[in-house]
Amino acid sequence: MSTAPEARPGAEPGGGATETRDPFWLGRELVQTGAVTPEQFASARTLWRRNPAEEFSALLERLGLASAAQLAAALGRRHALPVASVAGRSLDRAAGRLIPPDLARRKCLVPLRRENRRLEVAVADPAAYSAQEARRDFPDHDVCLQVAPRAEILGVIEETWRSPAAGDGAQATFERLLKEAVAERATDLHLEPRERSLDVRQRIDGRLVHAGFIEEGQREAILQAAKIAGRMDIAERRRPQDGRSTLVVGARPYHLRFSCIPAVNGESIVIRIIDEAAGVRPFAELDLFPADRRHLEELLRHPHGLVYVTGPTGSGKTTLLHSLLHHLPAAEINELKIITLEEPVELRLPRFFLQLEVDERIGRTFSELLRHVLRHDPNVVLVGETRDRATAEITLRAALTGRLCFSTLHTTGAWAAVIRLAEMGLDPLVLATTLKGVIGQRLVRRPCPDCARPHPQAERWSGRFAALLTEEGPGPTGAAFVQAQPGRACLRCRSRGYFGRTPILEVFPLGGAEALIAERAPEAAFLRQARPRGCRTLFEDGVRKAARGLTTMEEIYAAAEGPALPEL
Ligand SMILES: [Zn+2]
Repeated sequence: MSTAPEARPGAEPGGGATETRDPFWLGRELVQTGAVTPEQFASARTLWRRNPAEEFSALLERLGLASAAQLAAALGRRHALPVASVAGRSLDRAAGRLIPPDLARRKCLVPLRRENRRLEVAVADPAAYSAQEARRDFPDHDVCLQVAPRAEILGVIEETWRSPAAGDGAQATFERLLKEAVAERATDLHLEPRERSLDVRQRIDGRLVHAGFIEEGQREAILQAAKIAGRMDIAERRRPQDGRSTLVVGARPYHLRFSCIPAVNGESIVIRIIDEAAGVRPFAELDLFPADRRHLEELLRHPHGLVYVTGPTGSGKTTLLHSLLHHLPAAEINELKIITLEEPVELRLPRFFLQLEVDERIGRTFSELLRHVLRHDPNVVLVGETRDRATAEITLRAALTGRLCFSTLHTTGAWAAVIRLAEMGLDPLVLATTLKGVIGQRLVRRPCPDCARPHPQAERWSGRFAALLTEEGPGPTGAAFVQAQPGRACLRCRSRGYFGRTPILEVFPLGGAEALIAERAPEAAFLRQARPRGCRTLFEDGVRKAARGLTTMEEIYAAAEGPALPEL
């Protein structure tokens, strides 16, 4: 890695080149944001002095104090440029002809998407390649510079500058299917046996999208290639198997988890694609309304107690818990012992988190691991899922003995968790004093910003939900109800009408609700008490987010229960 500006003819000022000559600026910035402690920064500096040839930022990355994404984000902030991941993207070949590959490699830049005159160019370090240089290299284009991780840019250059015609066997086809899924932001790739073919589908924003057929002649070879890739036994065709491996696209690593089960038409394989580099979602990206944010922060401030997140599989419960733990003040994170028990560990959390993986097949269950974890003297424990009474009881005991415990439950709403825990046999009186909060969450799709249209019912909803819509919150205010337009020609969302997802939440802090918990009161009784404090239900949070164009009313009605509206 090199951010040292090289001498070049006509080098222009203002590229930030002199600033990046200070090798420690990034370290200082990380200390300022609290991501790195002053002690860690000092240790890193000592290490660096032994080998000053290494870029300091690279050393920070190697020590696990900064990720490639963090480095890119810091550079983006410093040069006021947007930051993007370019893994899975490809070079715009026409634009690529304007610049020799060796220059692209040396300057670490890649021309990506072109739309009319507008050309996106990703650079690793804007100090080494300025906007002026870009204008000179790509005349007749409006160049939009963006910052991306260096390794990803080099990956795109290597993968697409050379001819991609190499390899045409089943292994190559399978790899292509995976890369296409990554480029489409898919979380899973499904290979489903039909009578004579293999149906390929990708899960994008929670929905399965057909991505092609593999015909009869190639079908067995592709399934075998998938099993080899997942390091599974290819001779075993009658029993379910699991596998895992890593895929590197544009130098960005993706973890793959394979599940293979025999179906009547043949073996069915699902591959989960985990982008570790995406990291933990910060609070700022959760589209939280102020009261919910305040309540979540209050839950984090309890020195001990229990907090549950509820929702069906795939509603982002664990993701929310990771965001919550990362929202602890950095100085506190450094001084706390935080242990997570997960099944599986999908996202490796940096720095001060000790992550354990549950594996029921070898008896490493949540309850068994939890017993041992408590001897490790943790301050904060995350129990990935509460499935049985044993886990619920040990978690409760841990909370009673001075730990702050987080876990998840499969219930339809936040308040239902209170009822479920009591039904599991936990003492309602103990529960009443230990349970600090319950949170319900769903993920709903965001309408595509390029093709959504104002909703024909917008005015009607604005009237119906007027009280909710006056609340202060994220995004533009006012009634901006939009309707997704699937099927319209759109490059960004590939005519699906939606792009990405956002959470809708109900956050119920339980201070003052002890009596209601002890008597297992109905949700309505709790809400009467909680509404004045700003607590809103899933549906209500959804409506106010739909009014800001963050999602659509169609999505809200599909995800949460609300009052029936004629002719929706
Ligand atoms: Zn669109």
